[in-house]
Amino acid sequence: MKVYDRLFIGGEWVTPAGTGTIDVINPTTEEVAGRVPDTTEADIDKAVAIARQAFDSGPWPRMQPTERAAILTKVSQAIQAEMQPMAELIATEMGSPVAWGSMAQVFAPSMILDYYVGLAGSYAFDDLRPGLMGQVLVASEPVGVVAAIAPWNVPLFIAAAKLGPALVAGCTVVFKPAPETPLDAFRLAELFEEAGLPKGVLSVVPAGREVGEHLVRHADVDKVSFTGSTVAGKKIGGICGEQLKRFSLELGGKSAAILLDDVNLDEALPMLLPNALMNNGEACIAQTRILAPRDRYQEVVDALVEKVSAMSVGDPLDPTVEVGPLVASRQRDRVEGYIKIGQEEGAKVALGGGRPAGIDKGWFVEPTLFVDVDNSMRIAQEEIFGPVLAVIPYDGGDEQAVAVANDSSYGLCGSVWTGDPTAAWPWPGECAPAPTCSTVPSPSTSPPPSGATRSRAWGGSSGAKASSSSSSRSR
Ligand code: NAD
Repeated sequence: MKVYDRLFIGGEWVTPAGTGTIDVINPTTEEVAGRVPDTTEADIDKAVAIARQAFDSGPWPRMQPTERAAILTKVSQAIQAEMQPMAELIATEMGSPVAWGSMAQVFAPSMILDYYVGLAGSYAFDDLRPGLMGQVLVASEPVGVVAAIAPWNVPLFIAAAKLGPALVAGCTVVFKPAPETPLDAFRLAELFEEAGLPKGVLSVVPAGREVGEHLVRHADVDKVSFTGSTVAGKKIGGICGEQLKRFSLELGGKSAAILLDDVNLDEALPMLLPNALMNNGEACIAQTRILAPRDRYQEVVDALVEKVSAMSVGDPLDPTVEVGPLVASRQRDRVEGYIKIGQEEGAKVALGGGRPAGIDKGWFVEPTLFVDVDNSMRIAQEEIFGPVLAVIPYDGGDEQAVAVANDSSYGLCGSVWTGDPTAAWPWPGECAPAPTCSTVPSPSTSPPPSGATRSRAWGGSSGAKASSSSSSRSR
């Protein structure tokens, strides 16, 4: 069992102000896998004060971006050097299968850091532009003290997506991981320490939502970068709006995978299913609404039943396992609640719907396939965040399929599956505001300025402008 009795504040391991602790429960064994201090408001005040001083008078914002990036390179390399143990640590915290997690939970974060390292050398922090009265120097400057708040489902990935741009830009950061996943966050803190990050620049303070909200409200925080649920995002956006504080929100998703009528199921489903059930369905970009042309509906359902029932469910530390347990018993309650709701709404369970046979410990739910789903049902509209797929028939052609896909309040991701990729994108006007924003739901090679649209995201949380503000001076 991994136990920390100190918090990482301003680059040092310090005794916490309170005596409370957070137990990390392994969702497979239901046993305590780790323990960390529970951050208090006094700890947050201390972390923010140190970050403020480090930003206002410390060396970090005054270094060259490439000098700051050199630290990130070391951290990225260190993450890659411990891919397997890190994937196992995250699996122990929240149940992500290591086969998926070593790439998506560990290697991908190192790729994100590398992306910002590259940007440090290529981005025009000082940009001379033509202006009305002559040339204008537009200087991109770090926004200041950043409060970074992450969810538990892809903890290291989100940490990298927040720390990468903030640190390269020259910000100082108070990072609050979710209480379910503090262990990988503390390991990341150790890697930054070993990489030589100057004192004062980074704090890692695991806590729940009340203490998180104290961080959001703190007067010395210049920007809040939040990833999590839509409900929490609305609250945080409201607080930041009242305070006229910068913020970015990356929130929930309910992505649609459109199967066009020429799709080859033997080719498409082995690629689609890992994206639909990735991370046990606990992924904001999971393709959980599968849209099938009505005249091929039964064929699609039969193929899905065959392929999903062949997926292995079990201990996420087993490299052959594809679906592990949900993060917590409350999450299993939530998912089982939605399975009940779907049945009450009139959808049929074609596969799963219960707990897997032969597993008597852990917060498992069988991979579940709902058929005869209407897009207006709650199981088609609301984020379930578990291994539950809804197969929705559509009538008419491709445009009707896009209309059903876009009939959602979410706008995070989406995919189109076709036998002819060159003909798969006839809706350029639909791209920006629609969930159907990529042909394959994989991370793009360069993070876009903002990951989502509609009411499910706000501000740019990734990409070149994520943690800088611009000031302009006339020349
Ligand atoms: P959550 O909103 O409950 O919590 C996320 C984080 O915010 C946690 O650290 C939590 O402690 C903190 N928090 C919650 N309320 C807060 C408040 N009022 N003030 C300050 N901090 C607060 O979400 P979760 O259950 O941890 O994560 C799952 C959600 O995250 C899903 O909705 C998923 O879609 C979303 N998510 C989105 C993305 C994306 O890029 N869009 C990526 C991953 C996860």
